[in-house]
Amino acid sequence: MTYDDNNIFAKILRNEIPCNKIYEDEFVLSFYDINPQKKIHVLVIPKGKYVDLDDFSVNASSEEMVGLLKGINKVAKKLKISVDIGKGYRVLANISEHGGQEVPHLHFHLFGGERVGKMVE
Ligand code: 5GP
Repeated sequence: MTYDDNNIFAKILRNEIPCNKIYEDEFVLSFYDINPQKKIHVLVIPKGKYVDLDDFSVNASSEEMVGLLKGINKVAKKLKISVDIGKGYRVLANISEHGGQEVPHLHFHLFGGERVGKMVE
């Protein structure tokens, strides 16, 4: 799948539509999900144009990969859900059709602030 420059997260990255930002650095942007499924539900996305985790795993640089993983931890710390200062959380990435991915720009969901519950339905 080729990257669609008009997907909603691409527009958020270009500041064409607003988001409720939590954290930003050279590699990632994090913001609250517009339709939260848990007490805390935020998204962490890479700044690079990657459709999904498969695309990212094959095409991203090592720096981008490290930046994304560290970004997730920085967001978790900021939200006080990381294991050193909080009670933990769940990270989830939907990939393509069977994964139920709706927005074709790689993103990780972080759920927390309460017990997240059953892993899959
Ligand atoms: P997916 O199903 O692709 O893994 O998740 C996409 C997520 O993006 C959904 O949880 C949805 O609520 C969220 N979302 C869709 N459009 C917007 C938007 O314009 N702003 C924000 N903050 N979240 C969005």
